[in-house]
Amino acid sequence: KRNVGIMTSGGDAPGMNAAVRAVVRAAIFRGCKAFAIKEGYTGLVEGGEDYIKEMKWQDVRGLLSEGGTNIGTARCMEFKERWGRLLGCKHLIEAGIDALIVCGGDGSLTGADLFRAEWPSLIQELLETNQITQEQYDRHKHLYICGMVGSIDNDMATTDSTIGGYSSLERICKAIDYIDATASSHSRAFVVEVMGRHCGWLALMAGIATSADYIFIPEKPSSSKVWQDQMCNIVGQHRAKGKRKTIVIVAEGAITSDLQPISCKDVKDVLVNRLGLDTRITTLGHVQRGGTAVAFDRILATLQGVEAVKAVLELTPDTPSPLIAIDENKICRKPLVEAVEKTKNVAAAISERDFEKAMSLRDSE
Ligand code: ADP
Repeated sequence: KRNVGIMTSGGDAPGMNAAVRAVVRAAIFRGCKAFAIKEGYTGLVEGGEDYIKEMKWQDVRGLLSEGGTNIGTARCMEFKERWGRLLGCKHLIEAGIDALIVCGGDGSLTGADLFRAEWPSLIQELLETNQITQEQYDRHKHLYICGMVGSIDNDMATTDSTIGGYSSLERICKAIDYIDATASSHSRAFVVEVMGRHCGWLALMAGIATSADYIFIPEKPSSSKVWQDQMCNIVGQHRAKGKRKTIVIVAEGAITSDLQPISCKDVKDVLVNRLGLDTRITTLGHVQRGGTAVAFDRILATLQGVEAVKAVLELTPDTPSPLIAIDENKICRKPLVEAVEKTKNVAAAISERDFEKAMSLRDSE
């Protein structure tokens, strides 16, 4: 029986609470103890009962639909340093935790993988400096890690969806539906900026779901002349056919083919100057992260949480850490390191303008 810790880390995403609930209850169901590690890696670095708390069945009651993460999340610079991870190692051992499930984005999962790889040297140092006993050393020789992807961006390689992606998409679509009404009333154009970092999934899917006139995504850059001509042409045609509203969606990572960011202001200026449209900018901001999780994210987080507990209980010292994914509608395990590497390679290829490579990496997922 392993003692299982669950942590949410990095940017918050609706469905993280459902993941915590599933892990806690699946662990208890299997006769293990479950622990919440609060405030992401900060909880590991700080340690103690304020940050590492045993969770009982009732402690996660009502969490299934709640947005955000009740156990907190944070960006923790100390964990990027070896001394921070050494403290993390000590605090996990003090709490008696053998397995750690991390629900976060690619940064959090990179940290988790590094932590496991470094564990033997960290625990050795703790023993040599008498910070842990030989008995603790023998029991905690290995740390078992499992990743779950919580991210609104849906930007992780090897999994079709990330926990929070569809909730955020739903929020964006609702917001654009609201904007539609006022846009039509005044015959205005709206330029809407959406989140997603290097990934255009949210922008593209929101554009399809709301029949936007034009969409900017990082994966399909063009020269300033090309996008300006193309956008004006399309919007002009729609207007000529009597459409009274114009919606243009700009992903926050959108860039031109010479790597310049495309801002909502750039897009607005073109719509005003070339088409004479009364144009407003709407930046949805953190509204996109908030609210309750949609059914898909609740189900995804629950099924993946159950699988994550199963995975950490089956892991041996020699098996690579798994990432719990969804592939063609099936919950499955993928190698964590490969998923994180691939995600980073796609982002790097996009920012280096090697779009063919980026697309082939995505296609081969
Ligand atoms: P996300 O998980 O959403 O991608 P971040 O990239 O901010 O978010 O990562 C969240 C946290 O994960 C960081 O604040 C840090 O504590 C930890 N982390 C990220 N990258 C590393 C790394 N290379 N080594 C160790 N810890 C890391």
